[in-house]
Amino acid sequence: MQLQVCEIFHSIQGEASFSGQPCVFVRLAGCNLRCVWCDTKYAFAGGEAMSVEDIVRNVLAYRCDVVELTGGEPMMQPEGACLLMARLLSEGLTVLLETNGACSLDDVPLGVHRIIDLKPPGSGTAHRADIWAGYAAHWRDTDEIKCVVTGRSDFDWCVEKLKIYNALGRVIIHFSPVWGAVEASELVRWICDSRLPVRLSLQIHKVIWDPDCRGV
Ligand code: SF4
Repeated sequence: MQLQVCEIFHSIQGEASFSGQPCVFVRLAGCNLRCVWCDTKYAFAGGEAMSVEDIVRNVLAYRCDVVELTGGEPMMQPEGACLLMARLLSEGLTVLLETNGACSLDDVPLGVHRIIDLKPPGSGTAHRADIWAGYAAHWRDTDEIKCVVTGRSDFDWCVEKLKIYNALGRVIIHFSPVWGAVEASELVRWICDSRLPVRLSLQIHKVIWDPDCRGV
């Protein structure tokens, strides 16, 4: 089984509840969305064909306990991605899946931390949130949701959807500002005023390095 791989690198996790922890990133090529603020357009196409076993060898060489499959959208290659996640779990690693929330996640192996994006209208891809009806009945204890917002209307839209999909209080929910579009301090105020069980997540890799930096 082969996968199209954009890049593999070792850095710190920049987002969600594993933020700050060393992590190996396996970025797969291809994406079924075109978010207006996308910062990984270079992963839309191309990549190098690698076997699952080659990827596992590469990951293990970093001697790091945490690995994340990201993209693009890793679940665009569902069979290979699920096989790879199962292999990485079998090596005793903590496995994270960063997914755009517009693909079926039914076959993701149990034990994988699914970090699922909820894309509001400011992303230009909110219409794909329909698939969330399928997630709502199958939340797992290890799931996390990430809402990246461009402003107050995105924040309100996400809160509404999180209520509809029975996610509030069920899984960890992160709100993150689109870099350069909304101030983190504003988002903090909306979160505090809402009294909802959600938290702020900043893309700390963009604070540490140049926001346009790749593979860090
Ligand atoms: S889902 Fe991710 S990779 Fe795809 S366009 Fe949106 S931000 Fe970019």
